[in-house]
Amino acid sequence: MKTSNILLIYTGGTIGMIKDSETGVLRSFDFNNLIIKIPELKLLDCTIQTISFNEPIDSSNINPEYWAEIIEDNYNSYDGFVVLHGSDTMSYSASALSFMLENLSKPVIFTGSQLPIGDLRTDAKENLITSIQVASLLKENKPVIKEVGLYFEYKLYRGNRTTKINAEHFEAFASLNYPDLAVSGVHLKINFPYLLEPDATIKLVVHKEMDTNIALVKLFPGISCSLLQTIFNSTNLKGIVLETYGAGNCTTEDWFITLLKEAITKGIYIINVTQCSGGSVAMGQYETSTQLKKIGIISGKDITTEAAITKLMYLLGKNLSSNDFRTLFETSLRGEIS
Ligand code: ASP
Repeated sequence: MKTSNILLIYTGGTIGMIKDSETGVLRSFDFNNLIIKIPELKLLDCTIQTISFNEPIDSSNINPEYWAEIIEDNYNSYDGFVVLHGSDTMSYSASALSFMLENLSKPVIFTGSQLPIGDLRTDAKENLITSIQVASLLKENKPVIKEVGLYFEYKLYRGNRTTKINAEHFEAFASLNYPDLAVSGVHLKINFPYLLEPDATIKLVVHKEMDTNIALVKLFPGISCSLLQTIFNSTNLKGIVLETYGAGNCTTEDWFITLLKEAITKGIYIINVTQCSGGSVAMGQYETSTQLKKIGIISGKDITTEAAITKLMYLLGKNLSSNDFRTLFETSLRGEIS
């Protein structure tokens, strides 16, 4: 029976931090200390190699340059990957990697923690140990999980379906539009029907071109025309994720619709996503979204904002025709929309 060879990648975040005894401020520590803090790792039925970013970062400092580096160089040498990452932007990174790693047929599991590994009540140990277990699961000598997942507080989620919902509860993430991939209790229960089943014979393709000339605009009652004009007329702007109300609704005032039309005519892609944490955009359901459909706004359906942002960067990096862009955006590429 084969055992899995897992690569543990430490990028930074609370999970690998200690409190400075003088100032009380959290700072990163040498990654080797992580293994010393959790000797139980040696009991797992897999081999674990570790690498760390030279300078571990708080995830607020993550950017697209870091994303592709995480897996590509090591893909062929391991059966699975566990990425230790700050929780603040973990959903963005997990979503981004899901798009950048086309034909992924191995597990890439993101995890982190709310309390540092050295804290008495830490959630780091369980998150880390179970993430490694999940990543090392094999069936007929092949990985069980073949996608980018996010494991936190007893649940494995599809990475590009997650959002950080709480800054202090251990249950910090939610996947409101897609079921959990696995739940850890006395037994580790895998929800097989919900796992991605890619064709493992197709080679991994890593897409590194992520175009960041985009904006995220959240509507609110009273938002001004001049503010939106400034954003919509920014130099080099190529795409906007527009967070609308409810099932994709927005004001029907003329100035607003005209602004959107002008942007679309200039070739800017506008994606309609809902401000609600769960549910889907359904353009045309109400009068307040019928016009959006007519003028060529793209529906994000039930995609998360994090996945919409990273999918937009990914598709803009491919220089597609506008028809292909729209079709691909509205199609599920990695299980990110229903
Ligand atoms: N600020 C930290 C980070 O995202 C929080 C965490 O690790 O959970 O890097």
